[in-house]
Amino acid sequence: MLQLKDPSLLRQQAYINGEWSDADNGATLAVTNPATGEQLGTVPLMGTAETRRAIVAANAAWPAWRKKSAKERAVILRKWNDLILENTEDLAQLMTAEQGKPLAESRGEVAYGASFIEWFGEEAKRVSGETLASPWPDRRLVVTKEPIGVCAAITPWNFPIAMITRKAGPALAAGCPMVLKPAESTPYCALALAVLAERAGVPAGVFSVVTGTPKDIGAEMTSNPTVRKLTFTGSTAVGRLLMEQSAKTIKKLSLELGGNAPFIVFDDADLDAAVEGALASKYRNAGQTCVCANRIYVQDGVYEQFAEKLVAAVAKLKVGNGADEGVTQGPLIDEKAVQKVEQHVADALAKGGRLLAGGKRHALGHSFFQPTVIADVTSDMIVATEETFGPLAPLFRFTTDEQAVELANNTEFGLASYFYSRDIGRIWRVAEGLESGMVGVNTGLISNEIAPFGGVKQSGLGREGSHYGLDDYLVIKYICLGGI
Ligand code: ADP
Repeated sequence: MLQLKDPSLLRQQAYINGEWSDADNGATLAVTNPATGEQLGTVPLMGTAETRRAIVAANAAWPAWRKKSAKERAVILRKWNDLILENTEDLAQLMTAEQGKPLAESRGEVAYGASFIEWFGEEAKRVSGETLASPWPDRRLVVTKEPIGVCAAITPWNFPIAMITRKAGPALAAGCPMVLKPAESTPYCALALAVLAERAGVPAGVFSVVTGTPKDIGAEMTSNPTVRKLTFTGSTAVGRLLMEQSAKTIKKLSLELGGNAPFIVFDDADLDAAVEGALASKYRNAGQTCVCANRIYVQDGVYEQFAEKLVAAVAKLKVGNGADEGVTQGPLIDEKAVQKVEQHVADALAKGGRLLAGGKRHALGHSFFQPTVIADVTSDMIVATEETFGPLAPLFRFTTDEQAVELANNTEFGLASYFYSRDIGRIWRVAEGLESGMVGVNTGLISNEIAPFGGVKQSGLGREGSHYGLDDYLVIKYICLGGI
């Protein structure tokens, strides 16, 4: 069992309206460590009724929360941020235990996650309206911004803290309460965040965490008219379903969905830098991020050299339990995730792919998979169109710039893309030509709280992080003041 410095951070109950609660029927859901298969504990298996109660409580808490000044809310958010940072080690231990990522990455995520709370607390002080030039001499036109109201959030397991704070930060800062449903496999980080929110002074009902059956909780969140906005990070399939369900009550939506990121290496690239970027982008969190490089396109002239260097770098990755020092690759989240990687590998090899590294389950068992590199990958293979979400780097070959951009854009997704080049003309042409919400040029890591994160095409709607991210939680009101 986990040994935390502050054992009260590990909660096996949900947090609704400031109270720690079990499911109405007492049902529970097991939470396991993917590196060992060990059961860490349980959380309540809640559904419709409990979700409804959390929504009612959020709505009741809303007037007092929105009435506070932005600065008063910022003071509480700052406290929350500080508490998260003070408890970095425990939160990182919890994260590695339930999610599997190496401790160093977990610690990094705690800092990254806290940054959204700090940033939005500060940023919300600058939510300002506007006075427009009036076409009438006796009337004035004023635009104000108001919090949208009760928000519901559904988050994934790959970033158990950051995907929550990136939503709760702007919602709470803007003056909105939030009801959160974390992923089934990583509820403990979410509940620990609730413990710290409570300690920071977030009032009861302003931030509730409901654990349980996704379908039932999601159905209530999307159909309940009190919920004005739904924010979701996860697969495109579930995003599509939630959008459909939200249509009846016309909810405002933020959807951060799947990606299929291209990573293009041009022949003028600094190859060592490109290898380093590819490694960071592809193998971070064992390939389980929506901005992970999914398709690596390498220009003819440097193809074999890049492949050789990448394979050498991949050989240095250390697979193991994320809690052990020096490990850089943890397990995948579950058996289903391993099967998907296996399917992508088998398909690529059957269609002529050349295996350069890995390719199989790791000897450690459970859901460990070998870091894998496959060369001679072509557009007819599954990896070209589907997000692998695992440690498989497929190397495609291309000849011209136009071909690279066309291949990169040949997907329904448009979240992140990356490319390496030192030619300024090419950099602008390609950056402008890529159909994605984010472009990394000569870097494989682009996320931070100050920049807008989000996609185009079927990768989603809205932006998270940055001052744009606050707009998703605000509505505009136009006041026409006459009788002057
Ligand atoms: P992944 O494949 O990465 O697990 P999902 O889209 O399935 O992505 O999961 C992201 C989040 O969506 C999780 O919190 C999960 O519980 C939730 N989820 C999955 N199915 C539904 C559903 N039908 N309604 C609401 N939430 C869902």
